[in-house]
Amino acid sequence: MNKDYYNILGVDKGASKEDIKKAFYKLAHKYHPDKKGGNEAKFKQVNEAYQVLSDDGKRSKYDQFGSGFENMGTGHGGSTQGGFEGFDFSGFSGRNGQAYGGADFDFGNLNDIFSDFFGGGMRARAEARRGRDISTEVQISFSDSIFGTNRKILITKTSNCPACNGSGAKPGFKMETCKHCNGQGKIREQKRTIFGTIANTKICEVCLGTGEVPGEICDKCRGKGVFRREEEVSIIIPSGIRDGEMVRMTGFGEAISRGTAGDLYIKINVAPHPVFKREGNNLVMNLNLKLSDALLGTKYPIQTLDGEIEVTIPEGVTINEILRVRGKGVPVSKNKRGDLLIKLNIKLPGKLSRQSRELIEELKKEGI
Ligand SMILES: [Zn+2]
Ligand SMILES: [Zn+2]
Repeated sequence: MNKDYYNILGVDKGASKEDIKKAFYKLAHKYHPDKKGGNEAKFKQVNEAYQVLSDDGKRSKYDQFGSGFENMGTGHGGSTQGGFEGFDFSGFSGRNGQAYGGADFDFGNLNDIFSDFFGGGMRARAEARRGRDISTEVQISFSDSIFGTNRKILITKTSNCPACNGSGAKPGFKMETCKHCNGQGKIREQKRTIFGTIANTKICEVCLGTGEVPGEICDKCRGKGVFRREEEVSIIIPSGIRDGEMVRMTGFGEAISRGTAGDLYIKINVAPHPVFKREGNNLVMNLNLKLSDALLGTKYPIQTLDGEIEVTIPEGVTINEILRVRGKGVPVSKNKRGDLLIKLNIKLPGKLSRQSRELIEELKKEGI
C-alpha cells in the first residue's frame, strides 16, 4: 500500500521541515482521538506521515521508493505500534514546549493532549502485557440451551507452553535477574525528539518488563513461554442461555510471553426445536385437538423436554386457549422454573362420512 504522506499532511513535495512540522501540529490537534470530533485513524495517519517526512533519511527513501520502503528489510525492526514507535511525547512538559517557539498554535493544550495520549498509552503498555481476546461460536441443541451443558472445543491459538508452564525456563532451571535492565524491567534512555533530548523510560525488551529471564531456556517454546498450538477448552454453558448470547472465559484467549492471557468469547447458537419455542422463561408449544376431544375433554400424553407427561384437557375448551403446566419451562434459579404453555388448536374434520354427517345433524337439532 503506497501512502501519499505529503498529501496526508497537506504540504508540497518541496515543503520545508518547518512547514511539515506546522502542518503536523495543526492536523494532530484537529484529529486527536480524545477530542470532540477527533479521528483516531486520521490521527495515526498524520503521525505516521510526520515520522517519515520529519526524518531526512526516511524522507529521502520515501521520495525514492514510496511508503513501502520500511518493509524493504532496512532494519526498522520491531515496530508493532503503527506509527508511534521511536517517537515519544510522553516526557515533555510545558516548559519544554515553550522553549520551542516555531509554531503558532495553542501549545499548552496540545501538550496536555499529547501527554494524556502517549503517556497513558505508554504506562499501560509497561504495566501489563495482555494477550488478544478471541472469539468462536458453538452450536447447541434447544434442550441444552434450557438445561445447560458442557462442551469441549478445540481451539488453535497461542497458549502457554505445557513444558515450562509459561515461564520459558527449562524444567529444573530457575528464573534469573535480567542483566539487560538489572532486574528493573525498564530501561532509561535519552531520546531525541522534536522538543530536544529527553529522558525516557521504556520497557526492557529482553525480559519484557518482568525483570527476570530463564536461567536456561525451555526447548519446547524456545524461552517464549508460549507457542501456537491446538488446545482443548471445556466450556460450561449455563442453563437458560439464549440464542446469540456470549459465554466469556477469562484467561482462555491468546496467551502472551510474560503477560496475562486474553479472554475467550464463545457465541452460543441455539438450534430451533420442532415443537417448543421460548418466550421469556416459558416454553410454548401448539397442540392439535380433535373436535370431539375439545368438546368432551380428554387426557393427552405430551413429550416435554423433561420426558413424557399427561395433560388433562378440560371439556369445552376453545380454540387458542392456553393450558399452563407449571414448572416445566426454563430454569430461572435453583428451585424455580418457568412454565410450559400449551396453545390449543382444534382440528376440524375435513370431509365428513355419511354417518358423521347424520350425527352432526342430530347435534344441530340440539342447538350445538
Ligand atoms: Zn516452554
Ligand atoms: Zn530486562
